[in-house]
Amino acid sequence: MGVVSDFLKALKVTARIMVGTMTGSELVTTPYPDEKRVKPQRFHGRHVLNRYPDGMEKCIGCELCAGVCPADCIYVRGKENDPHNPISPGERYGYVYEINMLRCIFCGLCVEACPTEAITMTHLFEFSTTNRADAVYTREELLMDREGRVPHMFPDDPLVDLSELDTADGWVRATAPSGIAAYEGVKMWQGTPGPADWSPEPTQEEIDRRSEDG
Ligand code: SF4
Ligand code: SF4
Repeated sequence: MGVVSDFLKALKVTARIMVGTMTGSELVTTPYPDEKRVKPQRFHGRHVLNRYPDGMEKCIGCELCAGVCPADCIYVRGKENDPHNPISPGERYGYVYEINMLRCIFCGLCVEACPTEAITMTHLFEFSTTNRADAVYTREELLMDREGRVPHMFPDDPLVDLSELDTADGWVRATAPSGIAAYEGVKMWQGTPGPADWSPEPTQEEIDRRSEDG
């Protein structure tokens, strides 16, 4: 009896999925790239090197990101700032900065290690290339301009949604990152130019309330 009822249950599930797939109500895939899913807030996409609102570069060329990277795909060389015309507020700035995207595993450790929030990640993951050299992102491709715009090597590609470059990964939006609960819901990062004035992540109470409200 148990076997028959289990079989009928399984048959019911199969029928539901079959009908759902035909009608579209049970689809778990989307017709990418025509339709793109909203990404989770903590999605790890391609990196960006940020500036302060006054245009100074946040990177101080300390190489901590390169040291922590488990894939060994960041190469940084710092250079002394000219005291009369500094590039960054530190003693040095990131004179050479490269990330080999072919090796990157998008773990986000570089973001966590950075003492100045210079490197963060965006929501853009479309950056296929036709040769290896293009997959090594240089300082020119990573550094936002003074207005906060992030460069992309194929800005006219209709398949690329450049607005995803303006979207921060969850790390920079996080407001209780290492367990200090008093920071929950409080903005805890330094601003950048452009559209990057991200709201803090919602508190757990807000998340619970929203899910109760449906
Ligand atoms: S995301 Fe991870 S693998 Fe990629 S550059 Fe940063 S530390 Fe390296
Ligand atoms: S991105 Fe951050 S961790 Fe990496 S060299 Fe620049 S300041 Fe240091």
